Amino acid sequence: MFHGLFKMEPTCPHCGVRFERQSGESIGGTLVNLVLAEMFSMGGFIITQVLFQPSWIFQLIFWVSFNILFVILFYRHARSLWVALVYLAGGVYVDPEPEPPNAT
Ligand SMILES: [Zn+2]
Repeated sequence: MFHGLFKMEPTCPHCGVRFERQSGESIGGTLVNLVLAEMFSMGGFIITQVLFQPSWIFQLIFWVSFNILFVILFYRHARSLWVALVYLAGGVYVDPEPEPPNAT
């Protein structure tokens, strides 16, 4: 699905389905990525705070770094998860053949 680290192919090279039909659909992938990053870092923050009581500066540096790394490394997975959700909703399919120009 991807060409390089961050560039998504518009269509599947094997079966030709179009991954994103409307402009702005990639926002869904960004949403998946940010929501998961926040859930993991808030959960991790609360758990480490309860178990180990590390210093606030350590917590801040660790979880900000975690967030940045997670969002970068999970980018392709988040975009792919979003395409999978759109697929389940029926929004990922092969483009119909264009009408021949001299059909009439
Ligand atoms: Zn395919």
